Amino acid sequence: MTDVAEEFAGGAQFVAGERRAGTGGDACSVVDPATGRTLWTYAAAGPQDVDDAVAAARAALPGWAGTSPGERGEVLRALADLLRDRAGEFAAAETAQCGKPIRLSTGFDVPGTVDNTAFFAGAARMLEGRAAAEYSPDHTSYVRREPVGVVGSIAPWNYPLQMAAWKILPAVAAGNTIVLKPSELTPLTSLMFARAATDAGLPPGVVNIVSGTGPAAGEHLVTHPDVTMTSFTGSTAVGRRVAELAARTVKRVHLELGGKAPFVVFDDADLEAAVHGAVAGALVNGGQDCTAATRAYVQRPLYDAFVAGVADLMATVRIGDPRDPDTDLGPLITTAHRDRVAAFVERARGYATVVTGGAVPDGTPAAAAYYRPTLITGAAQDSEVVQREIFGPVLVALPFDSDDEGLASANDSGYGLAASAWTRDVYRAGRASREIAAGCVWINDHIPIVSEMPHGGWKSSGYGKDMSVYSFEEYTQVKHVMSDNTAVARKSWHRTVFA
Ligand code: NAD
Repeated sequence: MTDVAEEFAGGAQFVAGERRAGTGGDACSVVDPATGRTLWTYAAAGPQDVDDAVAAARAALPGWAGTSPGERGEVLRALADLLRDRAGEFAAAETAQCGKPIRLSTGFDVPGTVDNTAFFAGAARMLEGRAAAEYSPDHTSYVRREPVGVVGSIAPWNYPLQMAAWKILPAVAAGNTIVLKPSELTPLTSLMFARAATDAGLPPGVVNIVSGTGPAAGEHLVTHPDVTMTSFTGSTAVGRRVAELAARTVKRVHLELGGKAPFVVFDDADLEAAVHGAVAGALVNGGQDCTAATRAYVQRPLYDAFVAGVADLMATVRIGDPRDPDTDLGPLITTAHRDRVAAFVERARGYATVVTGGAVPDGTPAAAAYYRPTLITGAAQDSEVVQREIFGPVLVALPFDSDDEGLASANDSGYGLAASAWTRDVYRAGRASREIAAGCVWINDHIPIVSEMPHGGWKSSGYGKDMSVYSFEEYTQVKHVMSDNTAVARKSWHRTVFA
């Protein structure tokens, strides 16, 4: 890891194809949450760095927007190859800066990013619009999908590489240029991604990275008059602030926010599959996943067996050094975040039962951010562990009787990002997929995402889509072009204006 830190000693800003130090006056640090060791302290971005990055993106826009989709696809194809070649380096850096198990980095984050890049290399050529030539003998119309312009994106720390890719790829595939602000905690792999994109032939200024805090760099990016769109992934509280700020300059806004995914187990479900799915869905990335399974609603006949099964399986989870390929659960992002998660569980002891977990593993050094997989039962539907996003390895299980009750409880949340329903009955599955108010409903699974399909929330989980060709709805603006087919000076419609 020291190697990666040394590689970035030149600065955490990437502006017009060059790395440089930030001028914001603050220092930010990348800390290994497994040890508390500081890996890198960098000069953070301030308003001047954002201005420079936006100017670079603006300067690069006419050239990049003027390329053909095929040309853009060629660069992204080369980038996918480079990312594949550098997979080990990316996985090591991702694990070091956010503590996710190396098995997840190598098996999910990096291959997912490579696949997303390859997808957008092809998808760049699928920009399309509905057009009509026959509606009038006098006119023909067509639709141009044009880039929005300079996109300002802001990303969280939980999947730094994938979030950078989800923001950058559809934007540049559609001909935009971009300034991305990664989380100040985890800028490494965004910088590596931008460098790889440049190595792959992306012209300087098309992708720029400003590493710094939300208040110092993020807000300036959101309010910048030369940024035409804001794409934000993060918490609902900050997303609300971002939308308010963006309204001042009437920016297009795309928000991917928090979640509190329900996991609904009907009484005909495959219990073993549901138990495995719940533990994997709750613990993926330490539960620091906006779609993580957090609320398991289990129909009464299966409830006790489900709780026992989940508790038993959680007890087998191997917690430890995220660099060890045998580790299932690494540390959370920081000790401060771990303490926040622990505080939710401690408060829950007053009104619910902590069946397993609810503690830091024995022998954990004070600076390491570990927390045990935790199962809570007996919480009321309106309690905070059921309603608020905890963002840690904590699953709450609640029983239900009728299907109506189970589905109503699943929907009783301010969030609407993702959900799953577990049943062997196709009609129940169909009903759940219709009635659950969320951007994604899995049937008999929880978590998988694919480049071809859209990801995005409903309700307080935001609006707009990442991934898939649906993301082009965010990153393009539609222009109607209408052409007169007749050679007459006096058109028939002129008579409605002057006789
Ligand atoms: P966060 O909202 O604290 O920060 C997200 C980003 O916003 C960071 O880069 C941060 O520096 C920046 N930021 C903070 N304050 C800002 C401000 N005032 N103006 C502009 N930018 C500001 O979120 P986090 O803790 O980094 O990430 C966890 C959250 O992200 C969770 O709520 C999770 O559900 C959400 N998330 C959602 C998705 C999704 O696809 N819906 C994906 C991943 C994470």
